[in-house]
Amino acid sequence: MPFAMRLLHLFLLSSSLFFFHPPKESVHATQVYICVSNTAKVYHQDRDCRGLEACTHTIKKVSETAAINEYKRRACKVCY
Ligand SMILES: [Zn+2]
Repeated sequence: MPFAMRLLHLFLLSSSLFFFHPPKESVHATQVYICVSNTAKVYHQDRDCRGLEACTHTIKKVSETAAINEYKRRACKVCY
């Protein structure tokens, strides 16, 4: 194999390794729990938080970013 080809091969090999093993931080965003109710205003860190016990609606697991930006929630004072 010519030297240039070997370099290219090495590059493709290392980039594919990187692709299959991305840094854990980038794929696992912080997950939080929200009560899917119109009156709920907060998101929870803990699934067993007593703030969630009162929830009569569905409890949904979303990313912290989505809870803040899409659901307009703030952090729960009990579990944060
Ligand atoms: Zn809470």
